[in-house]
Amino acid sequence: MAGNILRIGLATPLLRLFDYRCPVQGDGHAAGRGKRVVVPFGKQTRIGIIAAITESSAIPAAKLRTAIRVIDAEPLLDESIMALLEWAADYYRHAPGEVMAAALPALLRKGGAVDATESIWHATEQGRNVDSKALARRAPVQARIIELARDKPDGVDDGVLSVAGSTWRTAAAKLIDKKLLDRSQRRIDPLTITGPANGQSIESPPTPTDAQRTAMDAIMAANGFAAFLLEGVTGSGKTEVYLRCIERELEHGRQSLLLVPEIGLTPQLVDRFRRCLATGIVVLHSGLNDTERLTAWRAARDGSAGVIIGTRSAIFTPLPNPGLIIIDEEHDASLKQQDGFRYSARDLAVWRARQLDRPIVLGSATPSFESLENANAGRYAKLCLPERPGSARQPEVRLIDLRVQPCKDGLTEPLRIAIGRHLSNDGQVLLYLNRRGFAPSMMCTSCGQLVECRRCDARLVFHQQRARLVCHHCGVEHAVPNECAECHAPDLLPVGQGTERLEQALTDLFGQYPIVRIDRDTTRRKGEIERRLELVRSGEARLLLGTQMLTKGHDFPNVTMVAIIDADQGLFGTDFRSSERFAQSFIQVAGRAGRGDRPGEVYIQTLFPDHPLLLTLVAEGYDRFAAQAMAERKLAGWPPYSSLALTRAEATQRHTAFDFLAEARDLAAQLINSGRFTGVRWLGPAPAPMERRAGRYRGQLLIQADTRGQLQRFLSEWRPALDNLKSARKARWSVDVDPAELF
Ligand SMILES: [Zn+2]
Ligand SMILES: [Zn+2]
Repeated sequence: MAGNILRIGLATPLLRLFDYRCPVQGDGHAAGRGKRVVVPFGKQTRIGIIAAITESSAIPAAKLRTAIRVIDAEPLLDESIMALLEWAADYYRHAPGEVMAAALPALLRKGGAVDATESIWHATEQGRNVDSKALARRAPVQARIIELARDKPDGVDDGVLSVAGSTWRTAAAKLIDKKLLDRSQRRIDPLTITGPANGQSIESPPTPTDAQRTAMDAIMAANGFAAFLLEGVTGSGKTEVYLRCIERELEHGRQSLLLVPEIGLTPQLVDRFRRCLATGIVVLHSGLNDTERLTAWRAARDGSAGVIIGTRSAIFTPLPNPGLIIIDEEHDASLKQQDGFRYSARDLAVWRARQLDRPIVLGSATPSFESLENANAGRYAKLCLPERPGSARQPEVRLIDLRVQPCKDGLTEPLRIAIGRHLSNDGQVLLYLNRRGFAPSMMCTSCGQLVECRRCDARLVFHQQRARLVCHHCGVEHAVPNECAECHAPDLLPVGQGTERLEQALTDLFGQYPIVRIDRDTTRRKGEIERRLELVRSGEARLLLGTQMLTKGHDFPNVTMVAIIDADQGLFGTDFRSSERFAQSFIQVAGRAGRGDRPGEVYIQTLFPDHPLLLTLVAEGYDRFAAQAMAERKLAGWPPYSSLALTRAEATQRHTAFDFLAEARDLAAQLINSGRFTGVRWLGPAPAPMERRAGRYRGQLLIQADTRGQLQRFLSEWRPALDNLKSARKARWSVDVDPAELF
């Protein structure tokens, strides 16, 4: 690239790059696309990424500032990642500098070196021979440091020395002055997990079933880009297919990238890969510290990791030898980022596979309607893993009509009887209730008033164990009041069921059987979810209840009965995706029932046992349900049969948010009425389903287009113009392309 103007991505909310003059060479490196650069910005300096080098700038020469220094000798972001980021910034209409920043580990964003190093401390010859008892009388921390480092020929790191006491750094500096201690820097190697533990050989996966073999053959036969939708329930062997295909890529010296939902990234999954693959495996997830994240990223970038397993943001990992990309649980909503740079990791992955000309596999027991439509249209090849190897007939499903069956603490009598029967027959029972806390509301039995959050249009949830009322939307907590705020009667009662209350009811009824509850409240501590899941897997826990957290790809081999406590809550949500999400949870949960040759039982409590979608789902399964629900979507014109961009605005004053949305709507109307944008329309502005949240008023404006192309053409003019609206500076707002949720 020729020229001396650098076009730089800086992490600001602006939808553009920034021009600077090339720095004078000096000790810095030559400018190049994908390298980091330090630039003056206002009165500060910032670190940006060079996107292009050109010959001219729209900025007058007198105003053009000069970049200070190019940090990198080699580009940090290679051409293929840069192209991905540019496409993503354009498609999601997000600030390009922020998009580039999202692709870098935090330490690199802050200007750190690619090779992370750490201090290593050695006792010197003199230090090894010092009389530490004498030293301890004058300087106890120094003496402890000497003791810690004395017999360690390889040296010790900061973590070891910090045991000496909180003032260890000062003490270590004094020891260096006295020539009793030395310090050097060591490159930190990534936490790759390499092959089986010592002595064990690589475990070969079980002989594939016919269906698995067909799927593997199809994927392995792909030469270049091809997208596969791999449909199979939990336990049908999707992981075996992944493993075999990754193994094949490794034989050709190629890396594979596996994306999973945050909660699906279990130690069991990583352990399985470790036992079966002879390569370096790095795991990228939100629990890593900055150094761990950088070293894992480096191992992917230098090719030493053959497999990269990660959550959403791992889609931006550099792959010098790209092989296979896999998205597991491709329907999962967590693959879409819900704030800031609102990208879909699944959709970016498909784009990336096409650009790299490599195959991609989207795996799910319950594919998203978007992916099913892509399969129907022939863009994805559909592969099915129908049976669960070595087992089991489909579970028997029974609907319990809540209109005729009285309910106590959320449990009808037929359900109580069934639970008791399974427990006494040595079975394991799973109960699904997607509502945590004791009761979803507190009601005054004198005047009917419900206790509401003062900052949100929402009821406070009663948590009995903590004896608090909590708002699940803004997090505010209150002590439980003694009387009704409205009529002052002392008659407040918890209404409805949450997991906490259900657990109490089950303990009262079946106290002799161990119960495990899994929801956000019981799994706050690190490692707690793994500990609880293990109790379930081992069969020690006999009753298992929990929220959505239970539905994410965990394998519970011993469950004989599953109960959905309240089907209606999910089936009739406000979002056009409510029924799809409910069906996905239902299949994930119901798919647990049955073990070995024993068919399981599934019970569903509902007020609407005649609902056609529910009946189809129960009687004919997910695919038939999806076909029916997709036909309804098509009639209503919702995605995947249209494309959406949702503009959300919020402000402490209601009119501030709605003034902005009205201006944005007027602008949209003007563009659409010009006749240049066919197939595009707007809906709203309207209040968000929960209009007030955390003290702020929220509204939204929906842009809908018949096709992605039409939406993109419209957004390319409309979105930049929003920045110039007078009201845009007063409200907090965002534009979400392909929103996962309409609120
Ligand atoms: Zn009252
Ligand atoms: Zn609240």
